[in-house]
Amino acid sequence: MSALVLGHMNPDTDSIISAIAAADLYAKRGFAATPAAQGQPTPETEFVLKKFGLSAPQVVTDVAGKQLYLVDYSDLPQAPQGMDSATILGIVDHHKLGDVTTSTPLEAWIWPVGCTTTVLKSIYDFYCIEIPKNIAGGMLCAILSDTVIFKSPTCTEADKQAVDALAKIAGVADVKALGMEMFKVKSAVEGASMHDLVFRDYKDFDMNGNKVGIGQLEVVDLSILEKVKADLQAEIEKVKSEGRHSVFLLLTDIMKEGSEMLIVSDNPAIVEKAFGVKAEGKSVWLPGVMSRKKQVVPNFEKAFK
Ligand code: MG
Ligand code: MG
Ligand code: MG
Repeated sequence: MSALVLGHMNPDTDSIISAIAAADLYAKRGFAATPAAQGQPTPETEFVLKKFGLSAPQVVTDVAGKQLYLVDYSDLPQAPQGMDSATILGIVDHHKLGDVTTSTPLEAWIWPVGCTTTVLKSIYDFYCIEIPKNIAGGMLCAILSDTVIFKSPTCTEADKQAVDALAKIAGVADVKALGMEMFKVKSAVEGASMHDLVFRDYKDFDMNGNKVGIGQLEVVDLSILEKVKADLQAEIEKVKSEGRHSVFLLLTDIMKEGSEMLIVSDNPAIVEKAFGVKAEGKSVWLPGVMSRKKQVVPNFEKAFK
């Protein structure tokens, strides 16, 4: 049976490219593996797949009875249905260790770096396996996406070194220009529904028994979102009403390097407790905040304790 290599819910570029790269790597090590994703690629990921001639992985929403390799997550709220009866063979990730458990020993590569494909680059090197040119291009874009072209505080030296090496393999001369081209695609909101925008990069968390949703839109200029801000606020109010304590939507300006956070919560004061800044109405500007993982989730987790 071929195992599935599967990234998190609401797949981003890293979770889709990591599934493709890890499946290639496992297959070349002699373990049959097929890339999969819990949904269709976003416009950013579509741009990357097309640019390097890669195909979108099959969509999988139930993994009952399946063998699995996880990439880019290890927590159950990001997992599909059927996890209870799935067998996890391995994890490659760069998030805090989540709550999945396994019935058998597994191979786990979880490193504090900016992107899962940075870890995968090292695994290719460890096994002396050559990275195919098109996969190297995708991996490099995943790092540029996750680290916001090296600006995110999650970015490490290892990420930059991986990008240098991958750019050589993929034949990309100007990685920053490619990164900007990708973020311009990511910034486009025309034609997308408010639901799509909120869930494009969205995660639910369990914070001390409270269900908290945090979404993020990264744009090259916040003015792009001005005309849809009120509708986004209305949409997160709808999402909150589906049984959540709070929903926060980060509107990140990658050039100004900060985020405006839209807020809907049973306890709006939690925002001041978490960040030390008072919200004006239903939103707050958080200077320097770019990373949900490193700068937003830990603050809220502390505030909810
Ligand atoms: Mg991800
Ligand atoms: Mg990632
Ligand atoms: Mg991200």
